[in-house]
Amino acid sequence: MTRLGFFRLEARRLLLSVTAGSIFGLATSDVRVGLAVATTSLLISWGWQLSRMYRWFADPEELPPIGNAGVRGVLRDVYVLRSRSLQRAQPAMRPQPYAKESLASMREAALIINARAELVWCNDAAEYLLGIAFSEEEGRPLTDVIPVKALRKYMREENFQKPLRVKPSPAPEYCLQFEFSRFGVNDRLVFIKDVTEQDKLERMRRDFVGNVSHELRTPLTVIKGYLETLQSIVADDDKTLRKSFASMEAQAARMEALIADLLWLSRIESVEGERKEDAIDVRELLSTLIEELSLAWPERTIEAKLESAQMVMGDAAELTSAFSNLIVNALKYSDKGPVTVKWIDTAVGPALLVEDKGLGIEAKHIPRLTERFYRVDKSRSQDRAGTGLGLAIVKHVAVSHDAKLLVDSRPGKGSCFRMVFPASRAGLDIEKSSGIDGA
Ligand code: ADP
Repeated sequence: MTRLGFFRLEARRLLLSVTAGSIFGLATSDVRVGLAVATTSLLISWGWQLSRMYRWFADPEELPPIGNAGVRGVLRDVYVLRSRSLQRAQPAMRPQPYAKESLASMREAALIINARAELVWCNDAAEYLLGIAFSEEEGRPLTDVIPVKALRKYMREENFQKPLRVKPSPAPEYCLQFEFSRFGVNDRLVFIKDVTEQDKLERMRRDFVGNVSHELRTPLTVIKGYLETLQSIVADDDKTLRKSFASMEAQAARMEALIADLLWLSRIESVEGERKEDAIDVRELLSTLIEELSLAWPERTIEAKLESAQMVMGDAAELTSAFSNLIVNALKYSDKGPVTVKWIDTAVGPALLVEDKGLGIEAKHIPRLTERFYRVDKSRSQDRAGTGLGLAIVKHVAVSHDAKLLVDSRPGKGSCFRMVFPASRAGLDIEKSSGIDGA
């Protein structure tokens, strides 16, 4: 009801009362008495309406009193407003016990910690998996309930994008995966999975690839040795045999490179979680690398624009291999023009950019480039003798250093591979040889 509507209704009531009072006054030959009666009855009516309104406010579950016209409009508006705010409040009030009920019945272990990381709730599955009794642990910090260094670091950094895998002592075979998500003001819901079997299988696969690659090295060295001996005794004019030996030598070299990459990849994977965290002067590392690659590719130009002075926390050998793979690819997949290597500051953190003006890559291949042995064009890669593992290594190193690998490319125009590090891993004055958090 509008304010004007309310006044109109009340003015009409006033007018009606005054008219009735005047008629009563004329009948009793004293208009003043009539007006006094009209005013008194009006006041009584308003007082009665007000008392009913207060009664309703005290017990809002009741329907509003019907009241007279003006007050009825006001009451209707109050009633509508109240119902709306109740509707809005209900979903916020209900889900907590409802959500807890459904989490409690889940087979997956779940717990809730508050802003101070204290345990406020956990389901039966979590009690069973962690071997705890909630009644005894309630209110204790989660890092006391599960005293694992990696978990403490993970919670301090508050970067919950990737789940955390930990092996809580004393059983080293036992492997748990934690997934954190924020809700409410600053509460966190934590899902815990027992991934012992999965972890064991992954380790077996890694060990198998690592062992096979290692075992292949010895026979390959013997074959290469015999090839060299045979090549030295073949007559110079026996072109067919010479060509066959040259091809065998090239294939042996390719196999050697493959084994080296496979071994490196399995090493990077196996140090997951225990990798070195040194402060790396990326500018210095890139200068040395570019110098070495310029010597290996004397016919090509590698332009360096190393503008950022940011250091990055990480493993120098892994970063060198990733940067080297990107620069070598740029050289391999471009015949002309310089390859540009940039180390710059961006809004999110320092970034490495490797640009070439070469073959480029069609958009449909870009999402699959980092798969092992994925090649855009088999014939293109055969000429350039890649192992198909280079970008898989780059991706792995990027993930383990919390960096993003981004690719911009246009067929026939060239490519730009970017590795963007988060600011949390970088700094100008990171103390050399100390962990990010000193842990
Ligand atoms: P490879 O050992 O075959 O080079 P990589 O994993 O390093 O394997 O690269 C995967 C594929 O991505 C390559 O086979 C190539 O087709 C494509 N590629 C990688 N870098 C570039 C680049 N700078 N320009 C064009 N294509 C590229």
